[in-house]
Amino acid sequence: MDVRNCKSCGKIFNHLGGYPICPTCKKKDEEDFQRVKDYLYDNPKASIIQVSNELEISVRRIKSYLRDERLEIIGSEGNMLLECEKCGKAISSGRFCKECSSSVVDSIRATTSQMSKSMMKDRENEREGKKKGSGMRYLNRKDR
Ligand SMILES: [Zn+2]
Ligand SMILES: [Zn+2]
Repeated sequence: MDVRNCKSCGKIFNHLGGYPICPTCKKKDEEDFQRVKDYLYDNPKASIIQVSNELEISVRRIKSYLRDERLEIIGSEGNMLLECEKCGKAISSGRFCKECSSSVVDSIRATTSQMSKSMMKDRENEREGKKKGSGMRYLNRKDR
């Protein structure tokens, strides 16, 4: 028997695996989850703060539902439940908002273009070198 303290209320309970939470809290958690789900069904554009205020469920809890992927995001685009990890703007899914994810892509692209530029330079130098090389050969031939 695996006896543990409930992560939510601290009560000792018989742990059966998974997240250490007692049956009472688990039931409450499931109920809250259902309430969030129902609320989002009726208010698909609700923000995480709005849901939290309306249902008196902490933002952290709602986010944990999202992170666990237990919460389905309805209508993906309009549902602003997550925040961009970079600027904090409300986003519907993932880790960054459109602007930040594109700026991440831009910085990658900038690095890539910088790399290709330096590669072009190398190629130019190579060409220069070849020109010099042929000139040398010409001079050499003249010297002979
Ligand atoms: Zn508990
Ligand atoms: Zn952002």
